[in-house]
Amino acid sequence: MTKNQIVEILSISEPDSLQALYQRANQVKISTIGNKVFLRGLIEFSNICGKNCYYCGIRHDNKEVVRYELSDEQVLEAVDFAWKNHYGSVVLQSGELTSAHFIKRITDLLYKIKEYTNNEVGITLSCGEQTAATYRQWFDAGAHRYLLRIETSNRELYYKLHPNNDKHSFDKRLDAIRLLREEGYQVGTGVMIGLPFQTIEQLADDLLFFQKINVDMVGMGPYLEHDQTPLYQYKNLLLPPEKRLELALKMVSALRILMPDINIAATTALQVLSPMGREQALKAGANVFMPNITPDDFRKQYLLYNNKPGTNKIIIPDNDDAEYRINISNIEIGYDQWGDSKHFKKE
Ligand code: SAM
Ligand code: SF4
Repeated sequence: MTKNQIVEILSISEPDSLQALYQRANQVKISTIGNKVFLRGLIEFSNICGKNCYYCGIRHDNKEVVRYELSDEQVLEAVDFAWKNHYGSVVLQSGELTSAHFIKRITDLLYKIKEYTNNEVGITLSCGEQTAATYRQWFDAGAHRYLLRIETSNRELYYKLHPNNDKHSFDKRLDAIRLLREEGYQVGTGVMIGLPFQTIEQLADDLLFFQKINVDMVGMGPYLEHDQTPLYQYKNLLLPPEKRLELALKMVSALRILMPDINIAATTALQVLSPMGREQALKAGANVFMPNITPDDFRKQYLLYNNKPGTNKIIIPDNDDAEYRINISNIEIGYDQWGDSKHFKKE
């Protein structure tokens, strides 16, 4: 697809045309990689972060956040839940630290998880920008997929979302994605959709960027405001929630058509804009679902944005009903499978 064609897709607003787009993307998915959705139990194992991204609720300078780090036992308990429920894999996600303690902590955890599950559970990491040596150490310890969103592929917009300093360098982030590939990971990236200042043309470029760097997986979701972050001051520039959800779904569909055999996640943020937002994404081209299995007591401290699901148990249960909701959407679940990217395997 050309950039113009993608822009055209992202500009669709007529309900029948939208449905036709979602159905076409769903068909592309089914005929290329099948109708299975793969589960990844998401473990937010620490909210301690050394960075200051302007959009993120757990940024270093947000002093309102109570910081935590799960113990090995707590992580293994969550892994056990995923394993016993036949999820096939887990994602370990955290704020970004680069200390020797942090690097070793993750390495040790990886070995423990692999040993505990007899290497049956696949592990994806999402722990930010690291050196090649660290990525290698973690790969050798058992991680085989890594998520590192570029957030936006537009350099100018990137610096409206991050401080312009060495810790938040656009080039370093790009380079980290390249390093991950060199170290042998299945590489996932992604962007936030509906950011202040973001244009449809930039989103089209984001999709072409994924294609250019030949990613194996993409996790992209709507940007959601957090009132304790600098970007909150621009909340009046945002699309209304239903339009932001629609734009995110169009991005998923356009990407599925552009890159038919990659893994595309139905991300948590979709669920904030609509209770069935993630299931809608599964019907519009996504094939990965990440139920949050972080222990309840810590979820409210991993608030990337306001109204994050699962932080108020009365409103939204998650892992309890994730499978039920996928099932009623008539989508098959790939139990006990790592659900690796077909795109990666092909290569
Ligand atoms: N610290 C690691 C990193 O930044 O790559 C991994 C954890 S970070 C919390 C994971 C993702 O959360 C980020 O890549 C970003 O896209 C997303 N995120 C953070 N704040 C968000 C917000 N306000 N709305 C939507 N997504 C957000
Ligand atoms: Fe830290 Fe990641 Fe949030 Fe940025 S997005 S502040 S690196 S947790």
